[in-house]
Amino acid sequence: MGKKTTHKFKAEVSQLLDILVHSLYTNKEIFLRELISNASDALEKARFKTQASGETDELAPEIRVTVDADAKTLTVTDTGVGMTRDELMRNIGTIAHSGTAELAKLAEQGKESLDSLIGRFGVGFYSVYMVADEVTVTTKSMDADARPIVWTSDGRTDYKLQELDEDRPHGTEITVSLKEDLASQFTNEAHLKHVVKTHSNFINFPIYVGGERVNTIQALWREPKFQIKAEQYAEFYKFLTFDSEDPFDTLHTSVDAPVQFNALMFIPRHGNDPFGLGRENRGLDLYVRRVLIEKQNKDLLPEYLGFIKGVVDTEDLPLNISRETLQDNLLMRKISSTLVKQVLDHLAKMAKDDADRYNEFWRAHGELFKAGYMDFLNKDKFAGLVRFNSSSLDDDKGLTSLADYIARAKEDQKEIYYAYGPSREALALSPHLEVFRRKHVEVLYLFEPIDEFVMDALREYEGCALVSAEHADMAKLDKFESMEKEDKPEPLSDEQKTELDKLLARMKDVLGDAVTEVKASTRLSESPVCLANPDGNVTSSMDKIMRVMSKDTSIPKKILEINPDHALIRNMLAILEKDENDPFIDQAANQLYESALLLEGYLTDPHALVGRVQDLLTKSSSWYVASGK
Ligand code: ADP
Ligand code: MG
Repeated sequence: MGKKTTHKFKAEVSQLLDILVHSLYTNKEIFLRELISNASDALEKARFKTQASGETDELAPEIRVTVDADAKTLTVTDTGVGMTRDELMRNIGTIAHSGTAELAKLAEQGKESLDSLIGRFGVGFYSVYMVADEVTVTTKSMDADARPIVWTSDGRTDYKLQELDEDRPHGTEITVSLKEDLASQFTNEAHLKHVVKTHSNFINFPIYVGGERVNTIQALWREPKFQIKAEQYAEFYKFLTFDSEDPFDTLHTSVDAPVQFNALMFIPRHGNDPFGLGRENRGLDLYVRRVLIEKQNKDLLPEYLGFIKGVVDTEDLPLNISRETLQDNLLMRKISSTLVKQVLDHLAKMAKDDADRYNEFWRAHGELFKAGYMDFLNKDKFAGLVRFNSSSLDDDKGLTSLADYIARAKEDQKEIYYAYGPSREALALSPHLEVFRRKHVEVLYLFEPIDEFVMDALREYEGCALVSAEHADMAKLDKFESMEKEDKPEPLSDEQKTELDKLLARMKDVLGDAVTEVKASTRLSESPVCLANPDGNVTSSMDKIMRVMSKDTSIPKKILEINPDHALIRNMLAILEKDENDPFIDQAANQLYESALLLEGYLTDPHALVGRVQDLLTKSSSWYVASGK
């Protein structure tokens, strides 16, 4: 045996050890993660050395975790590069060779700032003192003339070094004498296997716990793309998500600048109720050099891309970064913005190459994706990816992009029109859309309340304004010819025009404050009346959402628009001409107004309306009988 020498830790080390043991990690089991990751680094270095020298290493690269329950020890062994005496003193006797001044400060500032500082020093090894009374490191470097050496310390003030006489293969063996109260937990092999699977499942070298290999799944994201088969991706995806089906799509990337990371992302076939229970079930797993840092990290991708499952692995973050630090980490933000761009570009490519496939994606995840209207930084990309049903499509399964709408639009059409409704059938009957139907001007059909928020946020696409059909400027539609045969009645005579003015005034009288105005309409062809918003900014559906939110149950005051060419209105003109005070006008005015309310979904009490309908039916059936037809 060589001489045993005692060395004091650098002052900052003992200070740090003290803090570490008492406060840094609440989760004690991560010491194993740190030891295994060091072993993995050492194996990586050994492989590199062997390759560089052109020789072969007769030792198989591996990591072994063994326990001795009676002795209350846990040992981690690797066949890695090992350490020389100098390296031992430098690596484990000092903290990352720097930062003395900062460390002095950190003790005063307490845990919060400590966490962020810790990440900048290599302190992983010392976490072992959360569970250890004493640690023994036996190591032999791969260097040609290196001697095996033993390091021991209780992690307080000093450590002892001693050279061994008998030679041993290169590598490192770390024996942890467990604290009394933790011994049973960390000598339990089943528990250790679980810990290794949780934190170190993707380490590139075999890890054995009590002789059994624990990590069996490859860290696929680190492998070159061209070597990976679709089945391997599918297997990994199922392992990750517990989905029983193959993924719909796979996105595997490797980025070097502005940050280094690998990402393997999947789009599942089905969405999972993004606004209900599934909401929290999102996020990418974050790894630092194959070691799991956080499952389902919520900062890497925004909520609207929450359908994406997968992992991100970076070399650029320190292993022992805390979650709080992650959140406002500049590097994380760079990774995130790069990821978002990649996902959006990937989707754009899918849409361009295979529209049917993209539509399939949209049907599964479009609802969640639409929340991306809040991502102003990526507004243009987002706008290119949204899809809607429309009046030009055959059924409610059809989808169009804004670009395709523009491609189909009329010459000179500088607006993209949309309307919200409960269904295609309802929109096909909406009086507001009559003019669009007549002139064959396409209208996007919006079925979800969020669609209007999307339109509001986007405002325009490729120079075309997004306009609610309800607010369309009729003058802008004048230039488009009607495409339908219309049996328009004779235009109004001058006399009739005067009567029309009287009728409008009379109806306003009857309806009073219920409407802001009664006026002649240019948009109607089949319907006698419709309601329009006096405030041209808020659509009726948006208005409804706001009313629900503010618990406003009153009926909004709107403009009643009258179709002067409708047979009923012409009849009313004739009646008015005969007798200015005919009560039928009152009845019809109320009836038309309430029917319009009913169509817009505002009529809360149908009694008056139903009573009037019955009265009118009774009268008209009497006339029918009297006329002898
Ligand atoms: P980090 O891994 O971030 O460098 P650690 O405190 O975990 O910080 O380890 C400190 C250093 O000790 C490592 O950089 C490495 O040089 C050395 N080391 C630790 N464990 C081993 C090991 N099993 N084999 C070889 N060297 C090791
Ligand atoms: Mg380490």
